[in-house]
Amino acid sequence: MDCIFCKIAAGEIPSKKVYEDDTVLAFYDIQPAAPVHILVIPKAHISGCCDVTAENSGIVAHIFEVIAKITADLGVTDYRVVSNNGTEAGQTVFHLHFHILGGRPLKGMC
Ligand code: AMP
Ligand code: ZN
Repeated sequence: MDCIFCKIAAGEIPSKKVYEDDTVLAFYDIQPAAPVHILVIPKAHISGCCDVTAENSGIVAHIFEVIAKITADLGVTDYRVVSNNGTEAGQTVFHLHFHILGGRPLKGMC
């Protein structure tokens, strides 16, 4: 499968890593939309929120634990977590990911 985030998770494409464990990777977004813009992904391919099931949803809970740890370690207390699902919602990479946005006041939702 030709998935850029699978390649990043496998180390085949470089990334600026913030956090890594056996199942999750976090790295800085290449086109930051805020002073803090980190992506958190499962290493296993899940296409998006629409692909979360009873079988794989445990990784989502783990990702939110990782988000709490990363932001605490960076001293970022005020931030937004976003996951775009589908082209019309702005999804461009079809591997589940959560954007952490912070470091400036965030207005609006869309
Ligand atoms: P989305 O548009 O919600 O699917 O988010 C995809 C994000 O991935 C965008 O914010 C891109 O800037 C980011 N992105 C794409 N390729 C890379 C890459 N090689 N390294 C880091 N971030 C990337
Ligand atoms: Zn993938």
